Amino acid sequence: MDIEAVKKEKTLVIIKPDGIQRTLIGEIIKRFERSGLKLVALKMALATPEMVEKHYTVNSEWKKNVGEKTIKAYEKKGATPPSMDPIVLADKVLSHLKKYMTSGPVVAMVWQGMHAVGVVRKITGATEPLSSDVGTIRGDYTIDSYQVSDTDGRSVRNLIHASGDPVEAAAEIALWFTDNELHNYRLFAETVLYDANFGV
Ligand code: GDP
Repeated sequence: MDIEAVKKEKTLVIIKPDGIQRTLIGEIIKRFERSGLKLVALKMALATPEMVEKHYTVNSEWKKNVGEKTIKAYEKKGATPPSMDPIVLADKVLSHLKKYMTSGPVVAMVWQGMHAVGVVRKITGATEPLSSDVGTIRGDYTIDSYQVSDTDGRSVRNLIHASGDPVEAAAEIALWFTDNELHNYRLFAETVLYDANFGV
């Protein structure tokens, strides 16, 4: 494993339209900022449906994974999924996401630092707010469930998108930001967080 790459890992976070409407921008940024990660890019944007589709399909496995997860969620609650084809189910999730993610502006950010992808996903919490742990952003600040969102025919409103792995993060960052929008600077705290000689 390339430890220097791990220390410089980048991840994309999007505050979704419900996060903006709930006036949680500052609260969400605070949670990531105080972890020790460094904010290296930030913008408000109104996404188009094409952008949303590109964003969710940069990972070619996304449809299969989301579809399979949906089937499992139905089976767990003893219900029959509307289809046994993961791609059919994922297409439905994607069509809801296109409406949800374009319903108002979003805030896109890039956070950088040691294990940035994993740290951000831990702070963000599980996809379904009903199951997200207390102490996570999704667990603390919202109340949605698959049961209600699927019945109402819409996306789970879970405040945030966070990249799933470093490869996905790189593709998503390239979609939302140009190279010169990504800032390269050093925080004083990096000495404490990363310097092998600190305190020795
Ligand atoms: P994430 O990486 O935790 O955001 O989760 P996914 O990439 O699996 O799903 C993307 C987004 O689609 C989620 O954040 C939800 O808003 C929505 N979504 C995913 N799965 C479902 C589902 O089974 N039902 C509904 N209604 N929405 C879903």
